[in-house]
Amino acid sequence: MTEGTIEAPVSSEASQPETTVPQARRVVTAIPGPRSQAIHARRQAVVPPGVHSVLPVYIERAHDSILVDVDGNHIIDVCGGIGVTTIGHTDDAVVAAATAQLQKVTHTLFTMTPYEPYVAVAEHLAKNVPGSTEAAPYKTLLMNSGAEAVENGVKIARKFTGRPGVAVLEHAYHGRTMLTSSMNHKGAPYALGYGPRAGDIYKAPNSYPLQDGLTGAEAAARTIAYLEKSAGAEDLACLVVEPIQGEGGFIVPAEGFLPALAEWCRENGIVFIADEVQAGMARTGTVFSIEQFGVQPDIVLSAKGIAGGLPLAGITGRAEIMDKSQPGGLGGTFGGNPVSCAAAVAVFEQIESQDLLAEAKRIERVFGAGLERLKAAHPAIAEVRGKGAMLAIEVVQPGTLTPNPELVAQVIDFAAQQGVLLLSSGVHNQAIRFLPSLKMTDELLEDVVSVLDAAFTAAGA
Ligand SMILES: *Cc1c(COP(=O)(O)O)cnc(C)c1O
Repeated sequence: MTEGTIEAPVSSEASQPETTVPQARRVVTAIPGPRSQAIHARRQAVVPPGVHSVLPVYIERAHDSILVDVDGNHIIDVCGGIGVTTIGHTDDAVVAAATAQLQKVTHTLFTMTPYEPYVAVAEHLAKNVPGSTEAAPYKTLLMNSGAEAVENGVKIARKFTGRPGVAVLEHAYHGRTMLTSSMNHKGAPYALGYGPRAGDIYKAPNSYPLQDGLTGAEAAARTIAYLEKSAGAEDLACLVVEPIQGEGGFIVPAEGFLPALAEWCRENGIVFIADEVQAGMARTGTVFSIEQFGVQPDIVLSAKGIAGGLPLAGITGRAEIMDKSQPGGLGGTFGGNPVSCAAAVAVFEQIESQDLLAEAKRIERVFGAGLERLKAAHPAIAEVRGKGAMLAIEVVQPGTLTPNPELVAQVIDFAAQQGVLLLSSGVHNQAIRFLPSLKMTDELLEDVVSVLDAAFTAAGA
């Protein structure tokens, strides 16, 4: 396929239910097309604008890496609902497991009468957390969303330490509930006007090698010095860190940064919480990205990719910490829903049976090389970064490190018109992030690179 090709619609598909979706891009209308526009007009009347859609193209069906909209456009999904459909849309094994569970039992409430799939998910998580051993297993609480995972991680850390303070890093994103929106770097838009915001949160400098030029040790010393002054170590319950920042722009900290912070936490009795909501679940080439930084987290948080598109979140921590909460202190009506758990078990099984960790590395190799070619051709690309299938490019004013959000927006718009769904990232919208399914073919990855190339060229950058 050549970039920018707009193919004619295939005529014979009319009323035939498609069980699979061909893994190729095909644009048959303007984007958004007339049917999407019609639904969008209905939506304006009944859905408030605070719920904003990046691309108001209404999706009817999806499989693997392709979204099919109501106008029949086939769009390459390089976002995966922000890192959720890590093993692809409507993955066969996930659909089969969820369907079977749906017909057996859909809800009892685990804190009323429990069921086995919850336990199975907890076993899979315990097995995959770096630092977990049979003698010292990690235990898991299941909830519904990433923000709930963060909320509960903080709650559990406070209970364990008896301290109030929560440390986070600049450029962080942790969710949209009251506590988590107060933990985000961007108060605007996430907390703007919804105050008062939660207290006892300390935002410390992060490590951002491209922009700060510091080594991991230097950056960690700066972070620690800041926290010791602003909070005081003995007032801190936890440090919540995304090992690779997601909304922050896929910032990979300098080597040694995370181990130094973890060591400082250990020395000071502060619970080290790895927020792996975006980076976890095999996306970076290990089940949890923190493994690649040589850190054993006290608590690790998962959500997004854990259940192949169904809502589920895990708070997995050292038994000593998790066991501190009193019976009844933890839980929630839908937390660890049986259908979501069955889907998550199918995801874990596929990570092993289909060697999805190797697929993440294949994507880093193939797509990473494509992005490096783009960087060589387009001076507005300052850096290609990330790990596995969590890659980003930082877009700048050529010859500087000044963010170029206008160009980011232009490239994303151009790509959308060509049938490629991309997403910006970063506090200044200075990066374009890529979260392909681990099953995205080399052919599709190359096609995405060719569309990006055309987009930068069209923008004269
Ligand atoms: C998305 C995200 C969250 C919030 O998850 P929700 O399911 O949207 O509540 C928290 N932390 C990180 C790192 C995320 O990327």
